[in-house]
Amino acid sequence: MAKYKLEYIWLDGYEPVPNLRSKTTIKDFDSFPTLEQLPMWNFDGSSTQQAEGGSSDCLLKPVAVFPDTTRKNGALVMCEVLMPDGSPHASNSRATILDDPGAWFGFEQEYFLMHNKRPLGFPDEGYPGPQGPYYTGVGYNQVGDIARQIVEEHLDLCLDAGINHEGINAEVAKGQWEFQIFGKGSKSAADQMWVARYILARLCEKYDVDVEWHCKPIKGDWNGSGMHCNFSTAFMRDTGGKEYFEKLMGAFDKYKNEHIAVYGPDNHLRLTGLHETQSIDKFNYGVANRGASIRIPHSFVNSGYKGYLEDRRPNSQGDPYKIASRILQTVATVPAA
Ligand code: ADP
Ligand code: MN
Ligand code: MN
Ligand code: MN
Repeated sequence: MAKYKLEYIWLDGYEPVPNLRSKTTIKDFDSFPTLEQLPMWNFDGSSTQQAEGGSSDCLLKPVAVFPDTTRKNGALVMCEVLMPDGSPHASNSRATILDDPGAWFGFEQEYFLMHNKRPLGFPDEGYPGPQGPYYTGVGYNQVGDIARQIVEEHLDLCLDAGINHEGINAEVAKGQWEFQIFGKGSKSAADQMWVARYILARLCEKYDVDVEWHCKPIKGDWNGSGMHCNFSTAFMRDTGGKEYFEKLMGAFDKYKNEHIAVYGPDNHLRLTGLHETQSIDKFNYGVANRGASIRIPHSFVNSGYKGYLEDRRPNSQGDPYKIASRILQTVATVPAA
């Protein structure tokens, strides 16, 4: 028997962007616990905008568990929030995702690392040199001092946790970075993304650094932050075809406002038609077109309109649960004939 430190993590009820919350419970296990072994728990929803004071208990239902190597016998437990009767809480966006084991998602999370409200590597006043050398750059001028150390430590913590990172890169703006996470099943990549965000925010505490998730933290000629969503279903990968693809894009056009509504706040500041984006009120798609709403990889066309697509509109502050949920809802309107 060992005492395990279980960090139960959930999303609060703040709008338009939920915050990560967590607290620890200590339990005895013979070895690292499986999801089935983890008990339900509860919290005071009146402190998280999820309940009134008179009846404040909300339930935490574990949905994914990851080793936490920052702690002896540590586990990170991602949870859904339920009402006392066991039904999903209104804030529980995960519960709205259609179950589809054949759906695959890859999210590309961009973010800024900030100290004293300024991106790492920015001078105390004014601006560094213009964008150009920073994307995938190397050297002190390109990436500054502690940024790479944080990014590397975050990568290792995530890999130790079993989170399926696919890569990292320095981004176009100074102090801006990206990591990519891929998962099979309609909820897996989104679960992993929230836990990876949690690990990054917690890691940065000791460096006196904040993660800036907002999609346009620096005004002017500086890139905003997106969270491109790459997606495919079993039908898209195995059957696909041009006719199906065109019907699918018709549905994405039809529901463009519903998509933008869950693709993160303040997206009009980022989706301007500049900086590798399409403007927020337009929908288009194009092969290898980084100025399109949806980019079609060359491989998709070359293999007969089969494979995955990249929705470039979701922003860095978007809830991956809501994004996955909306995409699968739109896909479901198109008959896979
Ligand atoms: P770029 O920066 O060129 O847009 P990245 O390499 O950063 O591309 O991200 C590509 C993403 O696509 C990765 O997160 C990867 O996991 C994801 N991906 C690859 N194949 C599929 C697939 N079949 N279904 C869903 N996502 C996929
Ligand atoms: Mn990328
Ligand atoms: Mn990027
Ligand atoms: Mn991309």
